[in-house]
Formats: sequence, structure tokens, C-alpha cells
Amino acid sequence: MVTAIVGANWGDEGKGKITDMLAETSDIIIRFQGGANAGHTIINNYGKFALHTLPSGVFYDHTVSIIGNGVALDIPKLFHEIEDIISKGVPRPKILVSDRAQMVMPYHVLLDSYEEARLAGKSFGSTKSGIAPFYSDKYAKIGFQVSELFDEEASLKEKIERVITQKNVLLEHLYQKPLLTVDEVYDTLMEYKKMVEPYVCDVSSFLYQAVKEGKNILLEGQLGSMKDPDHGIYPMVTSSSTLAAYGAIGAGIPPYEIKRIVTVVKAYSSAVGAGEFVSEIFGSEAEELRNRGGDGGEYGATTGRPRRMGWFDCVATRYGCRIQGTTDVAFTVLDVLGYLDEIPVCVGYEIDGEVTKEFPVTTKLKKAKPVYKVLPGWKSEIRGITKYEELPENCRNYIEFIEKEIGFPITMVSNGPGRHEIIYR
Ligand code: GDP
Repeated sequence: MVTAIVGANWGDEGKGKITDMLAETSDIIIRFQGGANAGHTIINNYGKFALHTLPSGVFYDHTVSIIGNGVALDIPKLFHEIEDIISKGVPRPKILVSDRAQMVMPYHVLLDSYEEARLAGKSFGSTKSGIAPFYSDKYAKIGFQVSELFDEEASLKEKIERVITQKNVLLEHLYQKPLLTVDEVYDTLMEYKKMVEPYVCDVSSFLYQAVKEGKNILLEGQLGSMKDPDHGIYPMVTSSSTLAAYGAIGAGIPPYEIKRIVTVVKAYSSAVGAGEFVSEIFGSEAEELRNRGGDGGEYGATTGRPRRMGWFDCVATRYGCRIQGTTDVAFTVLDVLGYLDEIPVCVGYEIDGEVTKEFPVTTKLKKAKPVYKVLPGWKSEIRGITKYEELPENCRNYIEFIEKEIGFPITMVSNGPGRHEIIYR
């Protein structure tokens, strides 16, 4: 069976933990979109890891970890991530990289940082990992697939020349930076070839067989619904689809095989980068939630920058779950809220004097003001509790209130960062 694990919000919902947990009973875990721009934090018996490219199943020896064709593959980052986990005692994982995945080129990273610098105060808050220039080139049909590393030298050089002619115009005239040469780019690609060669595979063919054999397959999403380029808060989105549906494309499996869509929802809100965030909070209130949040505070796994904080947003989450096609909600990081006397929950948006529960397009979202309902806190530590009925009454009320508002079943409640800190309902 194929299960997708995706986020309903702005990312950082705890998808890594849920994937790591479900991977225990899975055969294959696939990354199907995004690049090394976001990170999953995972805590297990080997230690604490921030994964950026590897799927969150690499810690098991019974799983195959796959980088699908939809990923923005940064080969040196993948290589270093593999070496890093091995150096910390994790057995060498079985990894397959799609021969159709495209590569983040060194100039994508450069162009990303030059553009962010040029936009200055109006920047997107990119992690400068080259993701936007990468996907632009992919769809402009001037990207490089992994398979091209194994092409004839002459034809690869001819393509490099064609592509960098365009890049050099930007480098020279828009950014006033050093120019690229064919030999330099070619040599870099040959380094990449050595790093990736052991893993390259026809992934969709491998998965076709695996689906036929009834293997348990996980599709691991990055970021969340709000960051989807079509259905999110455009233009403050990422450059590849963050939706479960895209899992079929970014891995190469039939869409009807995705039977379960586990949407991960955090018990409060956080966001990185710029963009609309209606239930955002500020000052000491935000500071306290940020410091207590996640595991060791809400700071970016890739950049270390402080995340923006907010109360739970039922409007955004209901929409985020709907657009994912949610079958199950995994409700995470609930333990963190145990310090609050009262917990505001955003139940509507006021736009031009009218209250709505429908998540609007960006132009209207800019005007939205949060409408809050304040719920009583439970003022206690809930880590270590393993049965739903043993959670404090106000805590269950919080979960059940949110479940009713969002309209999708919360089947898992995560009350700690560890693999087994989970309550099934
Ligand atoms: P992802 O990108 O969606 O995987 O999310 P991140 O890894 O960026 O953020 C989730 C953070 O919360 C990580 O540091 C996790 O270890 C932590 N985490 C996940 N679930 C829980 C939970 O139930 N309780 C607590 N306290 N931390 C959690």
C-alpha cells in the first residue's frame, strides 16, 4: 500500500518524526519533491539528525530510501548527508536515485543568493539553496537530468555551453559577478557523477514492481499546503508541489495507488520565510512559544533562523487538509502547549467586515484578521502518556474542538519528539 505523509500548513509540522515512525513497518520511503531547502529533524536511538535530502527512513536496515524524479537533487549535499549519518553509526542505507531526477547546479545556488540580495527588503526569504532557479530551468527545459552525466562528453559540453551562455548574460549584466566556463561546469558534473553513480536507478520501474508485490511504500512530502505553488499563498510559496497528489508524479507511480494520506498538523502554528500568516503572534508571547516549541525551540533545521510563531489556525488547516486529500490527521507537538492557562485558536478570518471560514486567495488573505476562540489550557506535562483517555480533559477538548473545526479525523496524537511518543485513537 502507498501512504503519503504531507503537511497541512507552512511546513515544520513534524513530518520527519511521523515518517520515521511509520517507516518502522514500511519497505520503501520516497522523497518526491523539493530539495535540500527544508529539513526534517529526527530523534532516534542513533542520536539527533537534521535531514535535508535523504528520506526519513534511512535509519532502518529493512528499508530502501529513494530520491524520486520530482526532487531538486543537490548531489554534494546528498553525498555528505550519507557520509554524515554513517559516521554517526547508522548502517549504510540502501539508497536509489532516479535517473530522471534533475540536478541542482552550482549556478542555481549562486543565482538564488544573488537574486535574494538584489531584491533586498522585498526578498522571498529563500534558503538560497538554488530551488527556485532549479525549477525555473527544469520547466524552461534547460535543466540537467542525472542520466545526462552518463552521456557523451561532446554532447554534454554542447548543452552546457548553450545553457551557460544565457546564465552569463545575467551574471554579467544583472548581478555583475564572475562568469561561468564550460570546462568548469563540466568538471563539476564529473565530480557529481562519481558521487551519485552507485545509486542511480530506473526508479519508476523499480516501484512498478514493488507496488505489484504489495510492498508498503511511504511518500514523504516537504513543507506543507500553504507553500504549494498552485494552492498555497502564491507567490510566497516553494517551487514544487507540496501536495500528496504530486507524489504520484514525483515518484512515478499511478495516482490511484495512494490509498492513505496522512496529513501532519501541528498543535500551534509556525512559518519560515515571508508571506501571509493570519494567526501570527509577536513579542514575548511568540518568544515563549518559540523557545518551548518543537524539540529545543522553533528554529529552522536548515538555516537556524527563528521561525515565525502563531496560534492554531482552523481556517488554514481545514483548507490545507482538504487540498491534500487527507484520510488521517497526525496532530503533533501537543505537549508543548502544557504551559498555557488559556489557548487561543483562530476559527475564522475577518475580511472587509465579514467573517469567513473559507481560506481565501492571497489578495484577500492580506486583509484577513484572525477571529479567536479561547480554550482553557491543561497546565500539565502530557509526555509519557500512551492512552488517549489518560490525557487531561482540557487537552482532549482541545484536540476534539480542532478535529470538529477542521473536519478530518485526528487518528494520531504526538506528545513528544521521540519515535514512540504517539497516541493512536
Ligand atoms: P518537518 O520538516 O515537518 O519534519 O518538521 P521539523 O523537523 O522541522 O520540526 C518538527 C520539530 O518538532 C522537530 O524538532 C521534531 O523533533 C519535533 N517534534 C515532532 N513531533 C513532536 C512532538 O510531538 N512533540 C515535541 N515536543 N516535538 C516534536
